[in-house]
Amino acid sequence: MLASNIKRLLSPPEFPEDEIKHRVAYRLHIVSLALVVLTLLYSIVWMLVQPDLLHRLIFSVAMIVVCVIVIICVRAGQVKFASHIFLASFWILVTLVAGTAGGTRAPIFSLYILAIMSAIIFSGWRVAIFYGVLTFISGATMVYLANQGLIAEPFATPMSAFLTQASVIALAILHGFVIVRDMQGNLDKAQQSLLELEDSEERFRLISSVTSDYTFSSKLNEKGELDHILLTGAFEVMTGYTPEEFIEIGGWRSTLHPDDMAQDEQDIARLRQNQPVISELRTIHKKGDIRHVRIYALPVFDETENRLIGINGGVQDITEEKHLEIQLKAYNVKLEDLVNERTNELRQAKEQLELILKNTTNALAFANQQGDLLITNPAFQEFFNVEETNAIEYILWAISDAEQLGDISEALLQTIYDGTNHRFETKIRVEESVKDLDLSLIAVESNLRENDIEHSVLLSGHDITHMKEIERFKEQFVADAVHDLATPISGMSTRLYLLKRSPEKLQEHVRALDNQVKHLKNLLEDLRTLSQIDRNMLVLNLESANINDIIQRVYDTYEPVAIDKSQSLDINLEQNLPLLTIDSRQIERVLVNLVSNAVNYTPENKNIQIQSIKKDEGVLIQIKDEGIGIGAEELEHIFERFYRSDEARASLSSGTGLGLAITKQVVELHNGTITVDSKLGEGSIFSLSLPLP
Ligand code: ADP
Repeated sequence: MLASNIKRLLSPPEFPEDEIKHRVAYRLHIVSLALVVLTLLYSIVWMLVQPDLLHRLIFSVAMIVVCVIVIICVRAGQVKFASHIFLASFWILVTLVAGTAGGTRAPIFSLYILAIMSAIIFSGWRVAIFYGVLTFISGATMVYLANQGLIAEPFATPMSAFLTQASVIALAILHGFVIVRDMQGNLDKAQQSLLELEDSEERFRLISSVTSDYTFSSKLNEKGELDHILLTGAFEVMTGYTPEEFIEIGGWRSTLHPDDMAQDEQDIARLRQNQPVISELRTIHKKGDIRHVRIYALPVFDETENRLIGINGGVQDITEEKHLEIQLKAYNVKLEDLVNERTNELRQAKEQLELILKNTTNALAFANQQGDLLITNPAFQEFFNVEETNAIEYILWAISDAEQLGDISEALLQTIYDGTNHRFETKIRVEESVKDLDLSLIAVESNLRENDIEHSVLLSGHDITHMKEIERFKEQFVADAVHDLATPISGMSTRLYLLKRSPEKLQEHVRALDNQVKHLKNLLEDLRTLSQIDRNMLVLNLESANINDIIQRVYDTYEPVAIDKSQSLDINLEQNLPLLTIDSRQIERVLVNLVSNAVNYTPENKNIQIQSIKKDEGVLIQIKDEGIGIGAEELEHIFERFYRSDEARASLSSGTGLGLAITKQVVELHNGTITVDSKLGEGSIFSLSLPLP
C-alpha cells in the first residue's frame, strides 16, 4: 500500500492529449526529483563534514523548496508555470553561485551581458528583460546575504575567473552552434527547394512528353540561320526526328512541305518586324506522311540593335483537326445535298398538293385562328365567291337558307374555340342557281400559348346537287310508282264490287277487269325495262336491219286500232334506205310507243302520219298527229318518268307515263336522238333520228 503510494508519487503525471506538455512535465518531474535527492545527499555530506557552517545550507533548502513547488505544479497540470519557476530559480541560483565566485568586479559581468544578449538574440526582448530583472534581484539578494554574513564576501579567485571564462566560451560555442544550426537549416531549405524545382521540371518534361505539342526556342546565328537551342515535349513524336537528327538534316525548313515555303518566309518576315505569328503549315514526318501543324511564334528582339535575335514558340499538331475539318466539309456538302433533295421533294409535294387543290371539284379552304382565309382553291372561290384574303365569315353570304345561317356561323366559332368538327348539308347560291353542298368544318389544332389553344379551320365543301337530285328523283319515282300501281288496283277492286252488285253485266265487268290487268302488266313491264336500263342490264341485240320493215309491222298492228277510232293512219316510206345496225325488237317497241301515243292522244276523224326519210347521217322517222298537242311548259317534262300531261290524264287513255322515258333511253343507247314539236290543241310531231352504222 505504502509502496504503491510512493511509486505513484514518484511516477511522473501523464498528459496523453498534448505530447509536448507530456514530455516537458516528464522531464521537469524527473529533474526536480533528481535535484531533491542530490541536494539531500549533498546536505547530509555537508553536515557531516562542516557542522559549523550549517547556515550555508540555505541554498540547499531553497533548492529543495523550489523543486517541491515545481513537482506540485507539474502534478497539478500547471506545466508551463512550473517550467517558468524552475528556470527562474535555476537562473537565480546560477547568478548567486557566479556572484559568490567572482562578484561584480570579475569578468562575470560580461557573462551577464552576454547571457542577456543571447537571450535577446534567441528568445526576444521580453525574456531578456525578465532575466535581466531576475539577475538584478538575485544580485541584490546576494549583497544582502553577504552583509548578513550568511555568505562570503564575493571575491575573484583563479577558479572563479576560470569558471567565468569557461562560461563565456560555452556561451560563444552555444552561439556559434545556434548560428551553424540556422545556416544548416537554411541550407536544408535551399536543398529542399532545389529538389522541388527538379521535381517540377521533371513533371514539366513528363507533361510535355505526353502532350501532342512541342515548344521551341531558337537563336539566330551570325549567318542569319536559326539554331535550335531547345526542343521539348512531343517534338520527336511529331517530327519523327531526335533534336540531334533534326539539326543534322538542316532544321525546320528541311521538314517543311515545299508548297508552304512561301508562307514560312512571310512568317519569318513578320517576326523580323517584331510581330508575333500564328500560322498553319504542313510538315513532313520522318516516315514521309504529312502533318498539319499550327505554329505560335514570338520574336525575341534586340531593341538596341533593332533586329531579331531569336524565336520562341510552340507547335501544335492539328492533323486530326484538319482531317475532321475535311470530314466536316464533306458532311456539310452531303447535308446540303440532303437539304436540296428534301427541298425538292417538298416543292414537288407542294406542287402536287397545289395541283390537287386546283383541280379537285371539292371546295377546300384553310383559315387561321383569327379567321383569315389563308388558302382557298378555285372550286372554293367559285362556290363562295371569296378570295384568299377574305375573312372566313364571308362564306356565310353564299348560304341561302336563313335558318341554317345562324347554326353555321355558331359552328364556325365553336370550331375555332372548342376544336369541334361540324358537318352540314346546306344550299348555297352560286350565281343564278342554288347548289346543294356537303360542308365540313374541321378543327386543326395550333398551339398558341399554353392553356390557350385556338384552332385553325379546314373547310371542305362537296357539291352534292346531283346526288340530291337523284335522291329527290328516286323519292318522286317511288311515290309515282306507288300511285300508278295503286290506281289500277283500286280500279279493279271497284270493278269487283260492281260485279258482285250486278252480276248480270258480267261481260262488261270482265272487259273492264281485263283492261286494268293489261294496264298493270304494261306498267310492270315498263318498270322492269327502266330498272334494266338503270342498272345497265339492257343489252342491245344489234343486227343489220331495214327500218322500213319495222315501221311497216307497227303500222299493220295499229291500222285496225286507228280505223276503230275513225282516224286515218297514213304511211309514207322512202325506199332504198340504208341498213341500220339496231336492236329491232327495242326499236319496234319505241315505234309502238310513239304510234300508240299518237293514236291515244288524237281524237276521231283526225289524221296520223308515219314517214321515213333518208338523211346524210342516217334515217329520220317522223310520227305526226293532229291530236291534243302538248303545252309549252309541259314539253320539257314529257320524257321524265311518270310524267303525264293534264290533258293526257283527262283523255282516260291507259298510259303509264313511262313510255317516252324508256323511248328516249333506248334511242340514246342506239346513239340516236328524239325530239318533239307540238302545239296544244293542234298536234305533235315526234322526230326520231337513227345514225348510220
Ligand atoms: P303515256 O303512257 O302517258 O303515254 P308516255 O311517256 O308515252 O306516257 O307519254 C308521256 C306524256 O306525253 C303523255 O302522258 C302525254 O301527256 C304526252 N304525250 C305523249 N305523246 C303525245 C302525243 N302524241 N300527243 C300529245 N301528248 C302526248
